[in-house]
Amino acid sequence: MIYLENPDLYLKTLLGQEGVPVTNDKESAAVFVYLKGNQLLLSCAPDPNTKFKSRSCPVRFITANNVPYFYNLQLVDINCQCDIPANANLGQSDRGLPFVFYDGGEIMVIPCAPFLTLRHRGYRTKKFYTQQVRCPDETVACVDRGGVRRLIAACLRMFFNQKNLPYIHLSYVPAGCKSIFGFRVDTDYTPIKIIKKCLSIPESFGMSWTWFIMTSEVTVNEAPIWAAVLSNQDVQLHCHHHVVYPDIKRNIANYYNGLKIMGFMNLRPSGVAAPYGEWHRAIATAFAKLGFTYSSEFCYAYDDLPSRPVIDGTYSPVLQVPVHPVSVGRLVAAGMNEDAMIEYYKNIIDLQVARNEPCFLYDHPLTIIRFSRVIKAIVEYGIHRCGRWMSMTQFAEWWTKREKSKYRCRVSGQSLEIDVTEPDPELELVIEFNESVARVPYHSGKYSLAGLNWTPVEKKLCPVDIAKIRHETPVWKLKNCLRRLRRQLRDLRMLRENPE
Ligand SMILES: [Zn+2]
Repeated sequence: MIYLENPDLYLKTLLGQEGVPVTNDKESAAVFVYLKGNQLLLSCAPDPNTKFKSRSCPVRFITANNVPYFYNLQLVDINCQCDIPANANLGQSDRGLPFVFYDGGEIMVIPCAPFLTLRHRGYRTKKFYTQQVRCPDETVACVDRGGVRRLIAACLRMFFNQKNLPYIHLSYVPAGCKSIFGFRVDTDYTPIKIIKKCLSIPESFGMSWTWFIMTSEVTVNEAPIWAAVLSNQDVQLHCHHHVVYPDIKRNIANYYNGLKIMGFMNLRPSGVAAPYGEWHRAIATAFAKLGFTYSSEFCYAYDDLPSRPVIDGTYSPVLQVPVHPVSVGRLVAAGMNEDAMIEYYKNIIDLQVARNEPCFLYDHPLTIIRFSRVIKAIVEYGIHRCGRWMSMTQFAEWWTKREKSKYRCRVSGQSLEIDVTEPDPELELVIEFNESVARVPYHSGKYSLAGLNWTPVEKKLCPVDIAKIRHETPVWKLKNCLRRLRRQLRDLRMLRENPE
């Protein structure tokens, strides 16, 4: 069990995503987690001795190839001022210096508290790794939420394991699965006849994709046809007009119109995905006011587990369900051929499977038709590697149930005791110990650690030249700056036209 000293909403978010058992009772705690200034401390005992020297310096990103417990992290964007302990010995910052300090037993110091990295809401254009010189890019969240979570989870795993204790957490996917695969389509300006053509792919796999509909393309007369064509699919709302407003009022009006059209399709969507993956307070508040239960915007999070954004000091009622943000169109822009595209997505799927995390990819109907060979190949590979497909709505519903689960566990010697408040066959506990992993069902019981079905963890090697994706030439910096400025000017212009 983990005891949290003065946790904030960001640390709670992150540990909730991991699904680790937290206790309010210091007696039953095996590890104590402290927020001390800008640092996060893991300790064996309450009130650890924290008299060590640190120095403040900006860190853009870290890599961790040489640390045995830090697998499948790849490159983690940090982008904040960190208080790095003078005797740091794990991981490597962009300046080539060690980042995390671990004394081998009593204490571990992570030089950035989650709130420092996770509270940021901006977006920027980032490159995503491929072997070729030109890497694809997309405008996504400035914060690497998934990366920061995986870094802190890796530290916890190492800390527990070095104390001869397993790292125990809820599985990131439903019971019996290693990972799950899902596919999202934003319909944008596509007419129904093109959508019909795309359907042959999910149908050939007996799969439901999640279709986010742009409803201004759906007339009242056509609505029943759309409903009939997509009857076996998961249908949700993209937008009415393909625009994100900087104010709450117009976003509500736009999505209210979308809901009205979907009403003509006899549908009441619970999920939504804003155009361009854009996310800010105004759009998030509009979604909450309209009663959506989940949304998916990569300007909030990408390649991560679901979470609830903190808005005005409290959790949003709208769950964020992240996808991998790079669609085929971005690969075309990077000059990739079809085989290279398939290779790119296979790597993404392999990485998410190695992490035991869900893998959601996304695209648009016209690209799906134009590159149907690529899409077929990656869907087939995704289902094969992940073991099971799920729609985003099914996954959001499962995650909402997972959020409510409560359990306790106790390890003494070789014995593991689990005590769950309410058993659930769709949940599972994952036990990680010294690069092996085992799973136990989510109900109360006693197990012998040695008797569990242990398998080696899957590791996806980090490319040696991964840091090239954060190499920013002056031209790249200027382009990024101009993109941001263009978005800000567009928002200012829209606000001036119609002040809130
Ligand atoms: Zn769109």
